[in-house]
Amino acid sequence: MSSINSILQRSQAAFAVYKKVSGKQKALFLEAIASAIESLGHPLIQTAMQETRLPEVRLVGERGRTCSQLRQFSALVTEGSWVDARIDTALADRAPLPKPDIRKMLVPLGPVVVFGASNFPFAYSTAGVDTCSALAAGCTVVLKAHPAHPQTSELVAQAIQLAIKETGMPDDVFIHVPDSSFETGKALVQHPFTKAVGFTGSFAGGKALFDYAAQRPEPIPVFAEMGSLNPVFILPKALVARSDKVADMYGASITQGVGQFCTKPGLLFGVQSEQLERFKTQLADRLKAIAPATMLHSGIAESYVHNRASALRQAGVTLLAESNAQPLPEQGTPTLAVVRAHDFIQNQQLSEEVFGPYSLLIAADDIHQMKVAAALLPGQLTATIIGEEEELHAFSDLAELLAEKAGRVVINGVPTGVEVCPSMHHGGPFPATTDARFTSVGTDAIKRFVRPVSFQNFPQKLLPDELKDSNPLGIWRLFNNEWKK
Ligand code: NAP
Repeated sequence: MSSINSILQRSQAAFAVYKKVSGKQKALFLEAIASAIESLGHPLIQTAMQETRLPEVRLVGERGRTCSQLRQFSALVTEGSWVDARIDTALADRAPLPKPDIRKMLVPLGPVVVFGASNFPFAYSTAGVDTCSALAAGCTVVLKAHPAHPQTSELVAQAIQLAIKETGMPDDVFIHVPDSSFETGKALVQHPFTKAVGFTGSFAGGKALFDYAAQRPEPIPVFAEMGSLNPVFILPKALVARSDKVADMYGASITQGVGQFCTKPGLLFGVQSEQLERFKTQLADRLKAIAPATMLHSGIAESYVHNRASALRQAGVTLLAESNAQPLPEQGTPTLAVVRAHDFIQNQQLSEEVFGPYSLLIAADDIHQMKVAAALLPGQLTATIIGEEEELHAFSDLAELLAEKAGRVVINGVPTGVEVCPSMHHGGPFPATTDARFTSVGTDAIKRFVRPVSFQNFPQKLLPDELKDSNPLGIWRLFNNEWKK
């Protein structure tokens, strides 16, 4: 594909210039992108509403989050210590051998291919966290637009182009690829100049891109955030104390955004009891009262109908409740199903994501069986425990087990609503992501697109500013084992 070749050649040429741009200049660029997106005003929101069917309030909030992310990365690269500079000066007199001067810091990988996500048209798409963390790192970006919101993507891409002009960045630091075909995505991942990939979407899509990358003569990292069931363990005393409140929280969390969040709670575990029966009725009532709503695109709506039906056909699964209102075409119906833990444990298919407003309640015979089911779960983005103080302590081994399974463990809350802050980890063991060591939310997301380099015995003039004795950038460094500015 000659056009893909030319895109990656342009990106590679821009990288040769952009990798040398200072942190402060990159910060101005990221800030200019945020301002340019804001300047697009209401027409951007209207376009996104038409293309994604998401409500105005959600899109305005998501645009705010996207600009705030850009500014958080801008602050990070202005301050500069993220490069993790470590300096060990020479010891010429050391016996039996002299110690060389060694200095290490993180440097950008090169051109990064980013796949926009359908369910976050701003925050995980064209100028979303993958793009802005890669640009902050000093990488160039080739953005494969998601076909479900092409005009939204085009408008945001134009805002980035404007910021490029305003701040004097190389033209091809960001290249927008509005083409929709698997062949294009595959060719972008396989091109030898591509050095990393960022993706949010289905397991099938993320795994396919991961496999293309692994099969290259030079394999590259793919940071794919894929499906997650986000299991919730509701302990017995919590149900005695506040089942009504828990039903309120979970009725809202399962159906928020028509269940189209990677953190939607898809599995709810409880121990068979009178209180669990009461909770089932309470949660069922909540879901019955919530109207079906239009999903992001026809493909996602079709997948929901298909995957929901397939989940409901599994042995031992019964439909407990669905919305009282009939769904219109392309709407997702809030749905709650139940199964005994015995059947859940024997059927791996029940641990597959149903993307949409569907959740499965699993009734265990006792806490031991609940823990057996927990131990069999695949990797997750999140896991949650709802419990009273004393039972949280009594079953602390459950929290320990869940920390092995998930990138974020929540106590007495809901997994939806991911806070954007430096302490957030949004990732998790496979199959939730392809690399559990990295996050796609928060400023640590920059670490996906860098690698460490040690500079041994370099003359001061040839060293990057971050590693010079004079510390012209005034950043924190580990200087001979002591943190110093
Ligand atoms: P998707 O099918 O995974 O597609 C996302 C992007 O990846 C698209 O740009 C698509 O290319 C590309 N792609 C997918 N498979 C590919 C392949 N084999 N080779 C090359 N490129 C490939 O995601 P979606 O369209 O947003 O939604 C479909 C399903 O994904 C949903 O029903 C849901 O189950 C899941 N999903 C999960 C999350 C999450 O947060 N975990 C988020 C969104 C969706 P094209 O542009 O050519 O189509």
